[in-house]
Amino acid sequence: MHHVILGAGPSGVIAAETIRKHAPLDTITLVGDEAEPPYSRMAIPYLLIGNIDERGTYLRKGASHYDALRVRQVRARATAVDSARRTVTLDDGQTLAFDKLLIATGSHPVRPPIPGMDAPGVHPCWTLEDARAIMARAKPGARVLQMGAGFIGCIIMEALKQRGVALSVVEMGDRMVPRMMGPTAGGMIKRWCEAQGVKVYTGTRVEAIEPQAGGALRVKLSGGDTVEADLVISATGVRPAIGFLKDSGITCLQGVLTDEHLQTNVPGIYAAGDCAEAYDKVSGKTIVSAIQPNAAEQARVAALNMVGQVAELKGVTQINVLDTLGMISASFGNWEGVPGGEHVELTDLNAGRHLSLQFKGDQLVGCNSVGWTEHVGVMRGLVEGQVKLGEWKDKLKADPTRLMDAYLASAQAQGHWAGAGDTRRR
Ligand SMILES: Cc1cc2nc3c(=O)[nH]c(=O)nc-3n(C[C@H](O)[C@H](O)[C@H](O)COP(=O)(O)OP(=O)(O)OC[C@H]3O[C@@H](n4cnc5c(N)ncnc54)[C@H](O)[C@@H]3O)c2cc1C
Repeated sequence: MHHVILGAGPSGVIAAETIRKHAPLDTITLVGDEAEPPYSRMAIPYLLIGNIDERGTYLRKGASHYDALRVRQVRARATAVDSARRTVTLDDGQTLAFDKLLIATGSHPVRPPIPGMDAPGVHPCWTLEDARAIMARAKPGARVLQMGAGFIGCIIMEALKQRGVALSVVEMGDRMVPRMMGPTAGGMIKRWCEAQGVKVYTGTRVEAIEPQAGGALRVKLSGGDTVEADLVISATGVRPAIGFLKDSGITCLQGVLTDEHLQTNVPGIYAAGDCAEAYDKVSGKTIVSAIQPNAAEQARVAALNMVGQVAELKGVTQINVLDTLGMISASFGNWEGVPGGEHVELTDLNAGRHLSLQFKGDQLVGCNSVGWTEHVGVMRGLVEGQVKLGEWKDKLKADPTRLMDAYLASAQAQGHWAGAGDTRRR
């Protein structure tokens, strides 16, 4: 049995290791298009800060790790998949035949159509190559303009500040982290960043980037302002890296569409991680959720199915915990609420605390929080566990801070979080 895995990020590596564990005699080929050994993008902020070197980002430390597992590594880019012939075409001219295929190609940064995006000194922050380019310009005192204040944008702000740069952030949404946080939470995060010395523009677009003599950049904003920068970082979102699947017969919506086994519409072809649109049992929808815990779990479940077990994805975790220059916020599930749902909100601006809970019936279906680190696990348990709160729904509406009591009384009594998804042999 030949398993071909496209993409050598966390999903690809975890899938290869899981397959090897359960199928000692199968052949595994891991195809990745980046020059470095498999690494974690999540570690890039630590590299930017200087806490680790590049080797510290590598997913597995031993140089012989993959050889020892008999995982054949191919450095090439997949350019096409022929589902009927069960082959993959690579950009180095090779054609790989497979019995089982895993698409784990992750996502790539969205490139906004702004004049000047190709200018030297304009970079996304997605790969190790990007990180090197950023470090070359983000010297102490350098003027850095970051486009985008979403999940990734907020994560890298901390690293940039620690590099001692003068940071401006431009977000076209009306608040920071607009796809994860409501207006109150987004406003608190903005004020917090401003208090840390970051110039934040919300409701503002970058209209053009103009290279200046000496390597500086002049950035024109929609409000009429012009910002001089030595480095522009584009953190304007990511999209599944699935263009090569066009004409493959594999159904793609926003990402590669998969069922609860992570299998696509083509038997024997699976997808996992940032490129996958996976079935979420909790919401009953398919979701692309580009965060690493989902990538890891989806890879594990896909790999088990690839070796003949029956494994189901429990759900797509919509859990985002964000550290923005030290302000901890969280966004879980349907944080914007659902039709016919109920809502309660508690805000203490002086204490930097905010809780917004969304209910449907007697279940907590989503929430936003700022400054409530102690309840993160409880919020996750209640939302993902679809815990029936009973009388605790009204108690929480009267006092949202009683989340821990509600969890202890409801979730544990109902035996939630007994463990991850079940697996059994086919
Ligand atoms: C700066 C930064 C910070 C982050 N912080 C967090 C965090 O705090 N928490 C969190 O949960 N997530 C975080 N993420 C997101 C996290 O890194 C991703 O969710 C995770 O990397 C997804 O893993 P993956 O294996 O699906 O995709 P990837 O890690 O993107 O790996 C996919 C690999 O496939 C390769 N590839 C793509 N197309 C092809 C092709 N056609 N042929 C061959 N190879 C191909 C890619 O080059 C890449 O090497 C962060 C990301 C960044 C950039």
